[in-house]
Amino acid sequence: MNSQMNGNGAATSAPGVNGRAYPFNDHSYDVVVVGAGGAGLRATLGCAEAGLKTACVTKVFPTRSHTVAAQGGIAASLGNMGADDWRWHMYDTVKGSDWLGDQDAIEYLCRHAPAAVYELEHYGMPFSRTDDGKIYQRPFGGMTTQFGEGPPAQRTCAAADRTGHAMLHTLYGQSLRHSAEFFIEYFALDLIMDEDGVCRGVVALCLDDGSVHRIRAHKTILATGGYGRAYYSCTSAHTCTGDGNAMVLRAGLPLQDMEFVQFHPTGIFDAGVLITEGARGEGGYLTNSEGERFMERYAPSAKDLASRDVVSRAMTIEIREGRGVGPNKDHIHLHLEHLDPEVLAERLPGITEAAKVFANVDLTREPIPVLPTVHYNMGGIPTNVHGEVVSPRGGNPDSPVPGLMAIGEAACASVHGANRLGSNSLIDLVVFGRAAANHCADTIEPNTPHRELPKDAGDKAIARLDYFRYADGGTPTAQLRADMQKAMQENCAVFRTQEILDEGIERMANIWSGVEDIKVTDRSLIWNTDLVETLEFDNLIAQSAVTIHSAANRTESRGAHAREDYPDRDDENWMKHTLSWADTEALKVRLDYRPVHSYTLTNDITYIEPKARVY
Ligand SMILES: Cc1cc2nc3c(=O)[nH]c(=O)nc-3n(C[C@H](O)[C@H](O)[C@H](O)COP(=O)(O)OP(=O)(O)OC[C@H]3O[C@@H](n4cnc5c(N)ncnc54)[C@H](O)[C@@H]3O)c2cc1C
Repeated sequence: MNSQMNGNGAATSAPGVNGRAYPFNDHSYDVVVVGAGGAGLRATLGCAEAGLKTACVTKVFPTRSHTVAAQGGIAASLGNMGADDWRWHMYDTVKGSDWLGDQDAIEYLCRHAPAAVYELEHYGMPFSRTDDGKIYQRPFGGMTTQFGEGPPAQRTCAAADRTGHAMLHTLYGQSLRHSAEFFIEYFALDLIMDEDGVCRGVVALCLDDGSVHRIRAHKTILATGGYGRAYYSCTSAHTCTGDGNAMVLRAGLPLQDMEFVQFHPTGIFDAGVLITEGARGEGGYLTNSEGERFMERYAPSAKDLASRDVVSRAMTIEIREGRGVGPNKDHIHLHLEHLDPEVLAERLPGITEAAKVFANVDLTREPIPVLPTVHYNMGGIPTNVHGEVVSPRGGNPDSPVPGLMAIGEAACASVHGANRLGSNSLIDLVVFGRAAANHCADTIEPNTPHRELPKDAGDKAIARLDYFRYADGGTPTAQLRADMQKAMQENCAVFRTQEILDEGIERMANIWSGVEDIKVTDRSLIWNTDLVETLEFDNLIAQSAVTIHSAANRTESRGAHAREDYPDRDDENWMKHTLSWADTEALKVRLDYRPVHSYTLTNDITYIEPKARVY
């Protein structure tokens, strides 16, 4: 089967476990980007602009990536609506991260943020404007001035409440101006790693005709987004299954800080659909069943604009103590009805519609029922500030993995540490998307010839595809997925204890071993959503396992990781990143650590010393 060879050095087809051969279509690029959300498109555009032969592989049409759903805005210290400074933005981000963020990376993010936003403006992004024509900026949670001493910062640049939509369309339009090549509706299956641990490209399945493609490149950039769909209720799209993270685990490389999962305070009750933090930025507030603005008790200065972990915990406590609203006292009210209807129509049109459609609420008259909902993954693929994936090797905790890069929500640079501030993801996408493209431009001579691929390049990816295609067990994928989502929701929630997490580990191990008995009904290769959802579930279950193991192991409370049995932050023992490996064959998780960077990139700011985090 592997007898025919071609110019790549690799066989022209791979055998499936059932004896059928899958012929490879081979492609060569300087750079292949997997993902066409904000991060992937910014990197694709930058690489193509630098004259590199660039491919972008995406399982959904680019403008349908989850970035399109981002509402509230993108943070940058432009100072259009009051004094601001990137150092204040950096201070807020470090504090927001509960000191788990790497301060060199946070400096890079905040320092480059204004230029990245102006670049978007020049690309044609339709920002909302102030009366004098500048980019409009609104307050967001945890954003302050004067190193936390001054009033809230108006730092979040917005295009009404459809900022991600505006950004994604702008970036896709720009990518098309350059000669990047898009593989649209191609599902990346796995990385091609050689025996020296060098990443040589990816294998992808064309969803439309079932052909398999081996795309080799000098650099592979993973921009595959988060894995919110490991949970039952989340604001993320159904496509947010962390496929890139899982490919990294299968390559024997670690993920970082997976225990830190962000719950957004205001998902619409029951539906999970997001109501942006910008709603509170524009003056919205939360109340309990007694009509009390309870955030005043939990965060006396920032109140409803405390950071997300703080607000989500306060809401959960109110509900637990019997002060939830509704017949079952199981949610909270978000009020916007006191705001000027013109402001609502101009600044928050999207959520006005979402509240009507998903909660049947006219928010100009009545409060919206809301509940903390999974929203963002702080953890992901560990990288340095250039977007290079790092892994411990030869005594160096930050040793770059040759040929492999990661950006966006899939990556962990780590700028968000234990808790991300609202509007800091969109800026992360473009700052590090640009940094990754710059790194490629600096290190790759366009059209450099490729080395031969290993003979078995792509075989493992095809074996996995073929295995699931013909899987004939007794449990449908949907059943296993629902079990996993419920276990994550119940055993790895806003508040955690050893007992609940250990029970979660048990549950997850059972579900994971259930993959052996998985059933796929559709055997075709043409738009086989049954098969794709199975591959996505297989990706999710490995990430769920490392998430719950990492959470059970961290015996402190920090940022979004709130342990009731260890309520305090423990800098002495836990000022370190968790690294997690999954043996996806033996179904085992292994954990280790990586030091937090306690230094900055330049002398323009010194390391911000840890202190108690109060809002
Ligand atoms: C409802 C909502 C609102 C938000 N609002 C804000 C906000 O206002 N401000 C803010 O800063 N952040 C916000 N966030 C967070 C932010 O939007 C996301 O973190 C960010 O958009 C992720 O971008 P990304 O480029 O990393 O990935 P995504 O936009 O998720 O894109 C992932 C890409 O990877 C591709 N892909 C994935 N797997 C594969 C595969 N196997 N093969 C091929 N392609 C693949 C997909 O096709 C897609 O193109 C919000 C998030 C949500 C869910």
